[in-house]
Amino acid sequence: MNIPMVDLQGQYRRLKTEIDREIQKVLDNASFINGSVVAEFAKDLEKYLGIKHVIPCGNGTDALQVAMMALDLKPGDEVITTTFTFIATAEVIALLGLTPVLVDVLEDTMNIDPSAIRKAITSKTKAIVPVHLFGQCANMDEIMAIADENNLFVIEDNAQAIGANYTFKDGSVKKAGTIGHIGTTSFFPSKNLGAYGDGGAIFTNDDKLAEQMRAVVNHGMKVRYYHDYVGINSRLDSIQAAVLKVKLPHLDDFAKARNYAANYYNSAFAACEKITTPITAKFTNHVFHQYTLILNNVDRAGLQKHLSDQGISNAVYYPVPLHQQKAYKDDRYEDGSFPIAEKLSNNVISLPIHTEMTDEQLKFISDAVLEFSTSSN
Ligand SMILES: *Cc1c(COP(=O)(O)O)cnc(C)c1O
Repeated sequence: MNIPMVDLQGQYRRLKTEIDREIQKVLDNASFINGSVVAEFAKDLEKYLGIKHVIPCGNGTDALQVAMMALDLKPGDEVITTTFTFIATAEVIALLGLTPVLVDVLEDTMNIDPSAIRKAITSKTKAIVPVHLFGQCANMDEIMAIADENNLFVIEDNAQAIGANYTFKDGSVKKAGTIGHIGTTSFFPSKNLGAYGDGGAIFTNDDKLAEQMRAVVNHGMKVRYYHDYVGINSRLDSIQAAVLKVKLPHLDDFAKARNYAANYYNSAFAACEKITTPITAKFTNHVFHQYTLILNNVDRAGLQKHLSDQGISNAVYYPVPLHQQKAYKDDRYEDGSFPIAEKLSNNVISLPIHTEMTDEQLKFISDAVLEFSTSSN
């Protein structure tokens, strides 16, 4: 067997007729940039998410950058985010001359710890960037309350949890990415809603922020060749929008397929003390962008080799927390600053999870993981 982390070929084969037809339309019109399908997809996504404005852009990193550019932050302003995430989150903070303030995560959900956010707030804090890691939401009741009390912006990095639902204490439900002042996502091919190249989007209900961000992604112009803001060039191209427009109606089914695989794994590993399966917080559902185990006294490198030798892809998200990354070395932090993130980075492993998995593959993978884990110490 040869089992990839994500089976993009298998999913394409299933949707090929529709996707080929929509891509062909773009080719026939030669409307490669700003074709009508880009606005159509944005409208479809607004409706799906229940949000006023979806602003397409070039990728998920740009989406974060544009969101921060729209908040008129000044160099030295502090932005609080999690140390256990993909680098893009902190990268754009640093690029804009802002100060990333890192905090630790909760051991069960691996998401940002609200009490750690509270402790990290200073007079310079301007924004919080929670990341909905691996496909489940961070605690947005708490985070929005902290933001309200301290007059802070919240930008949700929703690159990994598009389609997830958040249930508030009062019982109301919102889509991940539509709760903060701004939400961002990525359409990188392996994301839950993946294009066939780079892509991203920004979400907001705020008309003024939306107008500004629409200009910022397009060189800061509202009227052609009149530049009201310093902007960037960040577009979702028409071919990507065509692919995404076909895939969006399938997004909830994609999440179901991922949950089926996750449940299979959960049952398979339930009796094994050396493996902690993913824990979903009560206020969110999980769309399993990644299926990530925490190993207890298992030789992780050995397990990785054992799996790879049998054609089973596997990965470590993330092997080094942000505060231990060379490029982000900072006197404020040292080894041991964020013990939970450090422990997780040494003990997590992610298994293949995607929309095309078969029971045969799931059994093969679970058996291989159990075989090694139960005999390792
Ligand atoms: C993928 C990802 C991004 C960046 O998205 P790109 O489209 O690759 O730029 C940002 N944040 C998180 C948490 C991600 O997983």
